[in-house]
Amino acid sequence: MKTVIERMSDGIEEDGIRRAGEILRAGGLVAFPTETVYGLGANALDEEAAGKIYAAKGRPSDNPLIVHIADWDAIGRIAKEIPPEAKLLADAFWPGPLTMILKKSEEVPYATTGGLDTVAVRLPNHAVARALIRAGGGYVAAPSANTSGRPSPTKAEHVVEDMDGVIDMIIDGGDVEIGIESTIVDLTDGTPTILRPGYINQEMLGRVLGAVEVDRALSFEGANLRPKAPGMKYRHYAPKAQLFIVQGPQRQVRERINALAKENAAAGRSTGVIGTDESQAFYTNALVKSIGSRQDEGSIARHLFSILREFDDSEVNVIYSEAFDTPQMGQAIMNRLIKAAGHQIISVQDT
Ligand code: AMP
Ligand code: MG
Repeated sequence: MKTVIERMSDGIEEDGIRRAGEILRAGGLVAFPTETVYGLGANALDEEAAGKIYAAKGRPSDNPLIVHIADWDAIGRIAKEIPPEAKLLADAFWPGPLTMILKKSEEVPYATTGGLDTVAVRLPNHAVARALIRAGGGYVAAPSANTSGRPSPTKAEHVVEDMDGVIDMIIDGGDVEIGIESTIVDLTDGTPTILRPGYINQEMLGRVLGAVEVDRALSFEGANLRPKAPGMKYRHYAPKAQLFIVQGPQRQVRERINALAKENAAAGRSTGVIGTDESQAFYTNALVKSIGSRQDEGSIARHLFSILREFDDSEVNVIYSEAFDTPQMGQAIMNRLIKAAGHQIISVQDT
């Protein structure tokens, strides 16, 4: 299949949106930018079209898709009931990086929800995304536009790497703004519960809803529990090289990483390091990449997935990353990094 690339990094291009909408209405696949990561879109109400997403990504069929809408009123057709919390959250955070789990209506096929009676809904804050959703009929199922298991795409080039020749169209909207996927909050089962951390954190949700819980499977102690968001159980984001997170006081972390890099070099293994603008000059015997600045946690979130992809293009055998427990998005960033590292964490103590 020839994949058409439409450039819209400077904003909406009406003809391209019209063509993209026609592809979606005809049951095809279009990758598009959102403020979180690039999505791989299909008509969410068309069982066969949704099925194509799983094939293109190599995604397990029990891992449900998020349905993207462009207007609040669209929610009535896909949700069986709309709890008051949904309206409160929409008023506070939509359009934006928040996904709500609601009971699904009959119109949503099980192919879209991975066999569940609930549906995930999001209204993205990206003009190109919303124009595409409207042009495509109003309901676009879209997981991240990467091959299953690879880091989520934060620029069109990443989508091209994974999806060229496999899907009908890629809309290039330039680099995304946030860089990690939406927060997912379940509104179907008692107290609202965070199933996946994101830009919108527990405290921000709590200010709107009062009590908000976090799925216990996301905590360190709950690592063996079954997560309520089926996708959270899969190995994800993993680079080809072995990745370890080194956590502890910053000076000790840098010293430990340098000691490990030296040992690796002596053993003929090459080392990669994920550091920051502040720390990168301290590392020796390694290919060092800065993920961003500790003064600007948004920069760390934005570069996380692209730095993991960059290391795949290098020859390093082992990667060590600092930990990034930043104030607002620390939980979301570390959730992705810990998955990418397959839970391999080295803790160093104050000495
Ligand atoms: P992605 O779009 O690739 O970021 O993946 C979507 C995430 O949303 C996955 O982790 C899914 O398991 C989760 N998800 C989608 N629909 C539901 C649902 N109805 N209930 C719980 N989790 C969901
Ligand atoms: Mg994904």
